[in-house]
Amino acid sequence: MPGRARREADFQPELRKNLVTREWVIIAKGRGKRPSDFAPAGEREALPEHDDACPFCTGNESKTPPEVYAVRDGGRPNSPGWTVRVVPNKFAALRATGSEHLRTIGLHSARDGFGAHEVIIETPDHNKDLWEMDLAQIEGVIQAYWQRYLAYESREALQYVLLFRNQGLQAGTSLAHPHSQLIAAPVMPHQLQVELQGGAAYWEYLGRCVYCALMEDEMKSGERVVLETEHFLVVTAFAGRYPFETWILPKRHAIRFAAMTEAEATDLARVLKDVLSKLAGCLQRPSYNFAIHSAPTAEHNVRAYHWHLEIFPRITTLGGFELGSDIYINVVAPEDAAAYLREAEAPAA
Ligand SMILES: [Zn+2]
Ligand SMILES: [Zn+2]
Ligand SMILES: [Zn+2]
Repeated sequence: MPGRARREADFQPELRKNLVTREWVIIAKGRGKRPSDFAPAGEREALPEHDDACPFCTGNESKTPPEVYAVRDGGRPNSPGWTVRVVPNKFAALRATGSEHLRTIGLHSARDGFGAHEVIIETPDHNKDLWEMDLAQIEGVIQAYWQRYLAYESREALQYVLLFRNQGLQAGTSLAHPHSQLIAAPVMPHQLQVELQGGAAYWEYLGRCVYCALMEDEMKSGERVVLETEHFLVVTAFAGRYPFETWILPKRHAIRFAAMTEAEATDLARVLKDVLSKLAGCLQRPSYNFAIHSAPTAEHNVRAYHWHLEIFPRITTLGGFELGSDIYINVVAPEDAAAYLREAEAPAA
């Protein structure tokens, strides 16, 4: 292990370019941060298994809007007996009502917040992170993602469906009970647009999918590989914006998340459990976000895309440079992060 003097002598920040989006990031690896240098999120310790005041806990089904999907062993809809439950978000960012039309306000454009915003309640247990659930439970969550994704992806007026998860205060969680969210929007997110354009440009120049090329390259070098299964490759991002930014990539080229096979869905549950366990062990249960990126629903001609899941541990805060320039400073070299994660195990109970 290099000493402090050596680490300072090695200090050489590096600008790295994201192969897909062509965004630059600064890898300030000379700062030599170790996982233990980051403060643990630590807010979960005191949580009870059941909280009477929590709208997502069993017995409080009437405190949410009526369910739109559930996995249940028995009982009527909106009563106890479920293992996974999906409900519209009571404080929705987008709603099913409203006009689909664009309007102008002076020089500006606006439209009604039309779309959908759902909450996937992942378990009746109030105090578990996703990786702490047993495999069958996580498989149930993936099935819920899949079914709800399918429910929206063919709707003409909606351009994009995003599945995402916030864990912990630094990641923007407002309710502790384990849940993911789905937002179906009538507009295309900027990040996706940039990825789609990057994928299309790569295909045009080199005649192949940029993500397939990336996976081949990562498997060859192995430096950033966290783990590999039959259907997935997990790597830390070469130009990751966040320390320990980790991507889960399906090995089979498919543009849409919903084009998964049953075998891939089962494997994804396993992979997600393993990767999130490793992050929890390595970074002392950090706050994190993840999002599933999939080809847009409205475009039928996309071939130069490849769905994937991006995980962003939230162990540093964004500053003026990031917000003002859109160039992120990542203080952990992705190669070091991958090495730490390969060795990491779930935290001791
Ligand atoms: Zn709860
Ligand atoms: Zn591909
Ligand atoms: Zn992406």
